[in-house]
Amino acid sequence: MTAAPQPDRGLVLVVEDEQPIADLIRLYLTRDGFGVHVCADGDSGLAAARRLRPVLAVLDIALPGISGTEICRRLRADDDWTPVIFLTARDDEVDRVVGLELGADDYVTKPFSPRELVARVRAIRRRSLGTPGGQPVRTVGGVTLDPARRTVTADSHPVALTSTEFDLLDHLMRRPGRVYTREELLASVWGYAAHAGTRTVDVHVAQVRAKLGTAATVIRTVRGVGYTADG
Ligand code: CA
Repeated sequence: MTAAPQPDRGLVLVVEDEQPIADLIRLYLTRDGFGVHVCADGDSGLAAARRLRPVLAVLDIALPGISGTEICRRLRADDDWTPVIFLTARDDEVDRVVGLELGADDYVTKPFSPRELVARVRAIRRRSLGTPGGQPVRTVGGVTLDPARRTVTADSHPVALTSTEFDLLDHLMRRPGRVYTREELLASVWGYAAHAGTRTVDVHVAQVRAKLGTAATVIRTVRGVGYTADG
């Protein structure tokens, strides 16, 4: 243990019914300066997310009461884009969690290292805090992105993106025509090395395209290499 906890990085909501796991997450996040609120079932987790307005939510999927995915779905239905990291029990849950319009920002597969979870929490926080003012509004093709206000329009219609989806699109649009590999995007957007698997990038790109609708062609797949934004 190092210095005393300094809960000034914001409150993280943890919804996890396995108490040893919840305790471990609480320990590591507290040590890292986050405030932590733990709920052990889905219904109280959803209520806490609405009441406490956490800076981020860590949601187990299988919970007593409503599931973690249902919590996320209901928050998004209320236009609440609090960043969400899912704890998944199996690898085959990953596509379901990251895709399918759940609006998750990241996931970790159990058993996971608490350090890795903390690194992902930090990465998401850094990204959502890290957009300085004064950056120009970017337009590529039919898509306009405002880095300061974190808003996106596609063919003049507002588009609601998760924090991760926004950052992915923002990164691609900073240098139109530049081709990024999946590994580069993982490192730059997610903030950690590619061990997580590059299909994370593919499912998020698919999700962004689905939301951009007719303007989706702004993200072009470069076969065998990666992705680029161009008009
Ligand atoms: Ca569980």
